[in-house]
Amino acid sequence: MRRLIRACYTGAGGYSYAKKADDVAREYGFDRVAHLASNENPWPPSPAAIEAAADALRTANRYPDERASALIEALRRYHGDYRFVTGSGMDGVIETVIRTVVEPGESVVVSTPTFSFYGIAAAAHGARVTSVPRREDFSVDPAAFIEACRGAKLAFLCSPNNPTGNSVPPEVVEEILEEMDGLLFLDNAYVDFADLDYRPLMHRHENLILGRTMSKLFALAGFRVGYAFVPEWLEPFYQKAATPFALNSVSMAAAIGALGDLDRMQKIRDHVRIWRRRFLEEIPFRVYPSDANFVMIDVTPHTGDEVTERLAARGVLVRSCTSFPGLGNHYIRVSIGEDWENAQFLEAIKDI
Ligand SMILES: *Cc1c(COP(=O)(O)O)cnc(C)c1O
Repeated sequence: MRRLIRACYTGAGGYSYAKKADDVAREYGFDRVAHLASNENPWPPSPAAIEAAADALRTANRYPDERASALIEALRRYHGDYRFVTGSGMDGVIETVIRTVVEPGESVVVSTPTFSFYGIAAAAHGARVTSVPRREDFSVDPAAFIEACRGAKLAFLCSPNNPTGNSVPPEVVEEILEEMDGLLFLDNAYVDFADLDYRPLMHRHENLILGRTMSKLFALAGFRVGYAFVPEWLEPFYQKAATPFALNSVSMAAAIGALGDLDRMQKIRDHVRIWRRRFLEEIPFRVYPSDANFVMIDVTPHTGDEVTERLAARGVLVRSCTSFPGLGNHYIRVSIGEDWENAQFLEAIKDI
């Protein structure tokens, strides 16, 4: 029956998931494992999010509001007067945007090395993926990116970038927006941890989408809530392409609760800033400066897989970067977790 499967799914590829903490704990006999592989928030969601979600369970016999009006209102309170669309995680938003604008066979541009899902989702839609490598220091070469975008309807750029951690300056994004023909999807999954604001660009450009997620700073990864700032003209078409009721009512309620808990968010931001500096100073390998809640580390002369395995044996889960296309095999990515997790990681990496 294998012949029934589309060619793009019979070979290697697909999304690479981090190893499960429970598996590592069992394999090496640890009670607890430092969980630094997936850039999650180490703490539970805000109590306000949990309460709102629990309330929403009572009416879960009903379909959710297909327009996500209450969530969009909460986003306007938080960000100001912008146009928003929502989805099942930012991953869901990415899929819907591709479906809205790209015909099968057309080209989608991706700045690499980066988050793999843009390419996976584009390929699943039958699009051709054009990768534009970043420079040696992982900065973006705007001229090369603009050149690759000629004739393409959609391009993906991640800032702060996963897994390298660096950001594209807003001036460079603006230069790209002015020159490209199509839409730019700027993935801002980690912008909550950076001192950067791309939102003003929405007022000046009709071809910009800012992708956001509640999975990282807002601690709702399990709820799958994503959204995007979109130009006004795009919104009705996105709605037509979207899967009906993709964002469920319990998750929406959780997101509204979380958006109201600003104190908690500020505490987490401060914690990430402190540990980002300590990681840069104390890790005995080359650490790339990061604007996100993780850092990328060059573990030469070891490989990323080897160091990831050795850290797992010490009860620390990190992400080997060998599965990121366009990156060498000697990098790992380490999330900033709770104090004990970060300390356990520092102790273990110093022994390698
Ligand atoms: C985590 C992540 C996302 C996906 O977020 P979800 O909302 O959980 O789907 C998108 N882009 C990047 C770069 C990420 O690291």
